[in-house]
Amino acid sequence: MSIVIAIDGPSGSGKSTLSRRLAAHYGLQYLDTGSMYRVVTVWCMDQGIDLDDQEAVARAAREMPLDMVTDPAGPRVLLGGVDVTERLHTGEVSTVVSIVAVNLAVRAELRDRQRAIIDVETTAGRSGGRGIVAEGRDITTVVAPDADVRILLIAEPGDRLARRARERHGNADTRSIEATRDEVIRRDAQDSTVSEFMRADDGVVTLDNSGMEPDETFAAAIAIVESQR
Ligand code: C5P
Repeated sequence: MSIVIAIDGPSGSGKSTLSRRLAAHYGLQYLDTGSMYRVVTVWCMDQGIDLDDQEAVARAAREMPLDMVTDPAGPRVLLGGVDVTERLHTGEVSTVVSIVAVNLAVRAELRDRQRAIIDVETTAGRSGGRGIVAEGRDITTVVAPDADVRILLIAEPGDRLARRARERHGNADTRSIEATRDEVIRRDAQDSTVSEFMRADDGVVTLDNSGMEPDETFAAAIAIVESQR
């Protein structure tokens, strides 16, 4: 029996940490769909493609030689066989990735690639057919609305800012919070023009982890998975 777990939520909600832990716990693969929008951005920047040229960006997305390594212990993104994982989370990419994410032709292409990866893992693939945890902004609603378990992971903006600031700057003092504000708040506002990830769709379980430690979030998510699968 395979299982597909879909997790959506805004930046800094702890999606990646939770999704990787769930995947490792259940012996599943792990798909970070945000990385796919980020790698389209890198691929276009490397080729000098203007991100505002929607047609050129969509063409580049379709031609992109991408391999997503979905091992939860070491997820990697290979572009033409080259590991570009470390480049995906630089400020240069985070600042502009939403321009790519609001391109509807890019969304259609990535949605198809994400579904193909999910399909492979439920029948064979690297999980041996056990399944996958996929996380992003539109997994519970668009990419995998039929997933066995669908979770919307949310947290108060203050919590999300502090987590991102710690991740990026090693602390959550006022300067780090301010330096992170654009990445979290502006990007979510821009992203929410194309996907609904602040309100749960019918059948999606909301998990608000404001004030929770990662272990508490994990325990709460396990309880949801066990009640839904
Ligand atoms: O989750 P992460 O911050 O890596 O996502 C990067 C960007 O990719 C988001 O800001 C959003 O613009 C886009 N994204 C999306 N749909 C998804 C996952 C990510 O539009 N399913």
